[in-house]
Amino acid sequence: MKLEKDVLIVGSGVAGLYCALNLNPELNVTVISKSTMDNNNTYLAQGGISTALNEEDIKPFVEDTMKAGRYENREEAVQVLAEESIENISQIVEEYGMPLDMENGKIDYTREGAHRVNRIVHCKDNTGEIVFKTLYKSALTRKNIEMIEDATLLDIITEDGKCIGARVFKDGEEDHIFAKDVVLACGGIGGLFKNSTNQRHLTGDGIAIALKNGVEVENLNYIQIHPTAFYEENSNGRRMLISESLRGEGALLKNKDGERFVEELLPRDVVSHAIFEQMKKDGTDYVYLDARHLGEEYLKNRFTFIYNGCLERGTNIGTDLIKVSPAQHYFMGGIHVDLNSKTTMDHLYAVGEVSCTGVHGANRLASNSLLEGLVFSKRAANDINSHIKDTELVTKEIPNLEVSVDELMKENKKKVIDEIVRIREDFDYELFDCR
Ligand SMILES: Cc1cc2nc3c(=O)[nH]c(=O)nc-3n(C[C@H](O)[C@H](O)[C@H](O)COP(=O)(O)OP(=O)(O)OC[C@H]3O[C@@H](n4cnc5c(N)ncnc54)[C@H](O)[C@@H]3O)c2cc1C
Repeated sequence: MKLEKDVLIVGSGVAGLYCALNLNPELNVTVISKSTMDNNNTYLAQGGISTALNEEDIKPFVEDTMKAGRYENREEAVQVLAEESIENISQIVEEYGMPLDMENGKIDYTREGAHRVNRIVHCKDNTGEIVFKTLYKSALTRKNIEMIEDATLLDIITEDGKCIGARVFKDGEEDHIFAKDVVLACGGIGGLFKNSTNQRHLTGDGIAIALKNGVEVENLNYIQIHPTAFYEENSNGRRMLISESLRGEGALLKNKDGERFVEELLPRDVVSHAIFEQMKKDGTDYVYLDARHLGEEYLKNRFTFIYNGCLERGTNIGTDLIKVSPAQHYFMGGIHVDLNSKTTMDHLYAVGEVSCTGVHGANRLASNSLLEGLVFSKRAANDINSHIKDTELVTKEIPNLEVSVDELMKENKKKVIDEIVRIREDFDYELFDCR
């Protein structure tokens, strides 16, 4: 089938949906998702969304983000992230009705690792689910936004070095969707790893497509390992995350003798490293997280999702120690974009985890990725709004791909893994087994 659109957005997480909502309502917008609309990493986010508390907090927020990123961040992008945080949080609350947790009529900010103050807005410990539902509900009310599930981006279509559309696989057929602008919002790479907190179908498709089409990528070696995923023996599925906010509220990491061995709120890479070292010393596959002193009633209420998730797996976090070990969690690298989320190919944008805005540097500060998804997808939308009237829709007849979708997906995965392995020699692949 040959279809014509103003804007095609690939991905229905925070970045894809918020971009769609910020596009001019007169534009004809299609959002596709490889799976169901709600099957994405956004839905899984627990801890919250970071934000500057006020004008005075912008500078400290920038400094905390730069420090966690080992000063390899692009400072101008971090500045934008911090400066535009407050207006974007206000937009999702006031315009779309996101119900943040409040205390005595004021936003209840929580704290996570390497933030010097409490500056994380949240909805209990299922913030991502609420973000998704809030944005999705708003998108459903927009007549100009069409959302298509189980539609997989196979490749982009180009003409004279510009992006003019995409090949999309849906219901056993390859469709050619031509659009004035294409926005890649197709998330991270966790599905490439045996050991990851991510949804399994997120396999870095956007990165493979960028590599194949000569679109610039960067920092593919910057892969964040989260210190505390729930440990399950012989589990090949997605690892359940035990959010950093549990440590933010006082949970302690302990070795096999019940002793603390690391400052719990140091940056994630430092804590993960300390856990690996401790596991080696103890000869174990996990360490313990102790939240018992916080009290079962408090834990049940404040960390309902984690409490129930652990209980289903046989651990009562109010009375038992939680077995945890590190797992792949987030991808700081991605498709290189400028401050308006434009890639190096004309009419191709990248937003959210698939992109590399440079805000995270070598290590993401906790809760900065939902914020990045908001701030930079809105910037993409604004940029598209500003030029799309002058953009021509280009179409052409092209034959379908000759390889099967399964073969193509396999090739794509291999391409991304090979590239990561090529530039990241120090990575312990045995632990994560992505090959
Ligand atoms: C367990 C967990 C907890 C987290 N907690 C937090 C937190 O508290 N705070 C925070 O800031 N961040 C957190 N993160 C990170 C954050 O959730 C993600 O980085 C962010 O949600 C990514 O949003 P996104 O819109 O870029 O991608 P996603 O939300 O992952 O969406 C990707 C979309 O792309 C689609 N897609 C992928 N490939 C294709 C294809 N080939 N064709 C069509 N569609 C495709 C998928 O179907 C999906 O719709 C957490 C992550 C995890 C895994």
